[in-house]
Amino acid sequence: MSGGIVRAATAACEAACGITVPPRTHPHEMHAPNTTPRYLVPFHPKRVPHFFTDVLVIGGGLAGLRAALSVPPELSVLVITKDGLSHSNSAQAQGGIAGVLGPEDRVEDHITDTVMAGGNLCDYEVVELVVRESSERIGELISWGTNFDRNGVRLALTREAGHGCHRIAHALGDATGKEIIRAVVQRVVQTPSIETWENTFAIDLLTHNDACRGALVWNPQHGKTLVWAKQTILCTGGTGQVYRETTNPDIATGDGPAIAYRAGAELRDMEFMQFHPTVLYIAGSSRNLITEAMRGEGALLIDRTGRRFMPDYDQRAELAPRDVVSWAIVSQMEKTQYPNVYLDLTHLEAEAVRARFPGIAALCQKFDLDITRDRIPVRPGAHYMIGGLIVDREGRSTVPGLWAAGEATASGLHGANRLASNSLLEALVYGAHAGEGASREAAKIDDNFCVPMLENPGVNRCGEPLDLADIRNSLKSLMWRNVGVRRNADELAEAAENIGRWCRYVLPRQFADPTGWELQNMLCVSRLMIRAALDRKETRGCHVRTDFPNRDDDNWTRHINFRRE
Ligand SMILES: Cc1cc2nc3c(=O)[nH]c(=O)nc-3n(C[C@H](O)[C@H](O)[C@H](O)COP(=O)(O)OP(=O)(O)OC[C@H]3O[C@@H](n4cnc5c(N)ncnc54)[C@H](O)[C@@H]3O)c2cc1C
Repeated sequence: MSGGIVRAATAACEAACGITVPPRTHPHEMHAPNTTPRYLVPFHPKRVPHFFTDVLVIGGGLAGLRAALSVPPELSVLVITKDGLSHSNSAQAQGGIAGVLGPEDRVEDHITDTVMAGGNLCDYEVVELVVRESSERIGELISWGTNFDRNGVRLALTREAGHGCHRIAHALGDATGKEIIRAVVQRVVQTPSIETWENTFAIDLLTHNDACRGALVWNPQHGKTLVWAKQTILCTGGTGQVYRETTNPDIATGDGPAIAYRAGAELRDMEFMQFHPTVLYIAGSSRNLITEAMRGEGALLIDRTGRRFMPDYDQRAELAPRDVVSWAIVSQMEKTQYPNVYLDLTHLEAEAVRARFPGIAALCQKFDLDITRDRIPVRPGAHYMIGGLIVDREGRSTVPGLWAAGEATASGLHGANRLASNSLLEALVYGAHAGEGASREAAKIDDNFCVPMLENPGVNRCGEPLDLADIRNSLKSLMWRNVGVRRNADELAEAAENIGRWCRYVLPRQFADPTGWELQNMLCVSRLMIRAALDRKETRGCHVRTDFPNRDDDNWTRHINFRRE
């Protein structure tokens, strides 16, 4: 392998940052309190329709669709997604997908950049695995019809924060995810062995004898269905919606980690929520991400007085990693007593800016902002969840029969901070691996249309009606205030106390549709995020503790794991 490159990258990293990179990380076990019922709703196998498939994929973003496309045609695949196939974090991706694609780039350099961004917590072998596969996986996308932007015949590559060279392929200027998902959905639709159920919500995984056997799903037309699968792949994406300020679409409510936690899977790295530094901040607009490719192309960050402030915080200035830029912006907002800073592109050539960022230009135009002449108001927002299900290199979770890929997992690629544009790549690589691994296992199992007796199909629970929107808004505000870009023990403890109280009366309730189930999942993951953030008494990557402002490599070069007792 591999070892040579890993060692080279590690050595380069040590030389560049003056840190010692440990050969492996050490797990740190924690058991979270068990106030969560095993199943959110009751069901009786005699009163619910059944469906049988070889492989069940939960989630229709890039990871889920890529997984489905890995299943050979002789096996049946069902993909369910709680919204439409075009509505996911993947479809929203702007900047692009990173890979070793240009003649001046090397696998070792991409590994080094990823490891350096990851704050000494990456799994080096995973980083190497993903980077090595990058050109092959991106090549597959091209062969399936994805039209990446080009300079003549060559891919037009851009550079983003933390990357040492131009290695980000993009499409439609700043709508890379939209174009990738268009091509991948088309491929899925043309594959007869793949069935898709949109607007279908996975409430819980079904387990029997500690193995995953499928999922309890719901849709508005048919109500509950028990989907029995020989192997199940969880690809439910992110968790950004637990924060008031987020770039994530409304599907990103952390369902996957919560569902998996209830089913006994082990989770990791829940304290690491990456905040995107530049989210559009205009009253009345949704919190749209302003891609960091803009800074890559020369945009500057200035405060309300017009002063460029990033060089005060880091010598890489606007191209410093995301955690550094987010932290600097929050500090500058505090210094200037102002709710935002600005991105300034007015010094760049206007036509080139409009051609490179057509989507953002059109969006800002709706609010009477011309990005070539006006400053764009921005502030940080929750963007990417690094934590999630523990998976091995094939995408196998800690529960037999359950696989996972994409943002719902903690694969070890990102460490304590994700390098920009590495997540679409991770979704592709791990989606492919999980699909292949699950197919291999499913092929070994004979068809059997019997239904096992489940341990605890739940009991009817009820209570006073609750104002779910009120609790959801309160949770999002509390998470933003107390568990945001900067954290400390007092604020985390206050958040834990409030959320613990809400959990006590919301989690045991029985709800009839996704509004309630999503809130229960959001409470579950928020509680785990806070427990991990309280536990990690240091600052590392995107986890910034103002009461422990330094990185503590002696005690904290390890992970925090959770599993339901
Ligand atoms: C605005 C924005 C810009 C981004 N830009 C980039 C970029 O330029 N480059 C990059 O590499 N990364 C980018 N990212 C991150 C990247 O898009 C995601 O990390 C990645 O696409 C995640 O893919 P996924 O398949 O794991 O999840 P998703 O694409 O989010 O898909 C999740 C799927 O799961 C479904 N789902 C969720 N819960 C349930 C449930 N209970 N039941 C049924 N279905 C469910 C959803 O409906 C959805 O279909 C960006 C993210 C955002 C939000």
